[in-house]
Amino acid sequence: MIVLGPPGSGKGTQCKRLAELLTIPHLSTGDLLRQHVRSRTEIGKQVNEFIKRGDLVSDDLVMQILRRRLLETDCCRGAVLDGFPRTAEQARLLDLCLDELESYGPTPKWVFRLLVPEPVIIERIAGRQICANCGKTFNRRSGEPQTELRCDVDHSLLVTRDDDQEETVRGRVKLFEQEIAGIVSHYSEKHSVIDIEANRTVEEVTESILSKMTELTSVSSVYG
Ligand code: AMP
Repeated sequence: MIVLGPPGSGKGTQCKRLAELLTIPHLSTGDLLRQHVRSRTEIGKQVNEFIKRGDLVSDDLVMQILRRRLLETDCCRGAVLDGFPRTAEQARLLDLCLDELESYGPTPKWVFRLLVPEPVIIERIAGRQICANCGKTFNRRSGEPQTELRCDVDHSLLVTRDDDQEETVRGRVKLFEQEIAGIVSHYSEKHSVIDIEANRTVEEVTESILSKMTELTSVSSVYG
């Protein structure tokens, strides 16, 4: 399952919730890359500057990292992909990869796109703080932490991402806008991309995604 959306669209939060509800892993390529940076691996050294600037890491490299993760046994029933594909080429590479891995169908089963106006994105991201340990996000809208700079869940330190500065965010949104048309057109050849109005509460957005899945599953079982 793929969830597309600009930075600040709530994509990470939705993917985490959907993964829990559907009991499949949540795979965020941003998290996988940041993990490499934290562990100072060769890949981490290579990608650090790209991430800080909000630029995209090479398609082949991200696909290679994701492929390795998809091969782990916990992904045998599927996964929720967060932040991938970011380009039409990544969508194509993912199809090739899924084709090759026997446990999956030939293409992603579900492709959702979260729609949020740009001013809302900037407001959501400005002042965003993230738990360095569990990744939970805090901001003015989703709620401030009970103790300043400490996560409500595990009391770990809250940090601000380097790429959450306003100028970098605007660049990341622009990059998303440039790439999304190619990705949507790639998937539209096989099945449609389902648009979800995401300028709503977290619970409403999850509910809307789940009800679309139920609705379309029952339609496809009726029409074969
Ligand atoms: P995210 O956590 O999804 O906002 O991603 C943070 C950063 O990681 C992005 O701005 C890119 O630099 C890099 N990144 C994450 N996913 C991808 C991807 N699929 N392709 C290229 N770069 C990526």
